[in-house]
Amino acid sequence: MRLIFLGTGAAFTLADDNFQSNAILEADDGGRLLIDCGTDARRAMKAAGLCQRDITDVYISHLHGDHVGGLEWLGFTTYFTQGLGRPILYIQEDMVGPLWTESLKAGMEALDFGPGTLDDFFDVRPLPATGSFLFGGCRLELVPLVHISSGDVVMPSYGLMIHAAAGPTLFTSDCLHQPETLMPYYRAARLIFHDCDTTPHKGGAHAHYRELVDLPADVKAKTWLYHYADGPLPDAVADGFLGFARPRQVFDLDAAAADEDDVASG
Ligand SMILES: [Zn+2]
Repeated sequence: MRLIFLGTGAAFTLADDNFQSNAILEADDGGRLLIDCGTDARRAMKAAGLCQRDITDVYISHLHGDHVGGLEWLGFTTYFTQGLGRPILYIQEDMVGPLWTESLKAGMEALDFGPGTLDDFFDVRPLPATGSFLFGGCRLELVPLVHISSGDVVMPSYGLMIHAAAGPTLFTSDCLHQPETLMPYYRAARLIFHDCDTTPHKGGAHAHYRELVDLPADVKAKTWLYHYADGPLPDAVADGFLGFARPRQVFDLDAAAADEDDVASG
């Protein structure tokens, strides 16, 4: 099982060599699970040498545009590509309705045969907040997290615990710093990919580098950072992290612990 970052940037990245933080989980059986499909997705996939034909499954962590804004592209191009089946779409069950009625319906409802629905484009598999699903022989467990909390409005995001053969990998998705919730996952994970804001002024939606740098050394020692701002970055390796993941970097999630140095390539 390999994790490939299509992009590692924040929502509004304009970097020439980076895109929004979407990734692909590539199974040994040839399946490819797109983890979030933002507005940059089609160009990010082209830069990685991929197209809609290469995607068998999609996972959506939450409903921001940099995570769902490319689904109109993916839905239409797979629908109109002859011989291509609907991608399987895994998503926490409370987000299925809003994804269609508040994000996609206006642009996708009108089809040649009449009104279309989300099910015309995707094989939707709604999941409970603490659910899991199988992909490529691997169990992927949802990790319910808080992305934004403002008064009565709480926006969740669902990370993934990827139970690969060599041990679990935590992919946080977009989330605030919440060490109390995440510590059991940090402890259990063999490898961690963590949302990390690097802007000068901490906002209310992402864990910030200044917070993450205070995590225990043994947690930082297995953590790659992503979803960072354009521009100069702190020296994450000097601060005890594995580093900032780079666009199109490939991580072998099945690499044996003894081969740790070979886990990352590309
Ligand atoms: Zn977000």
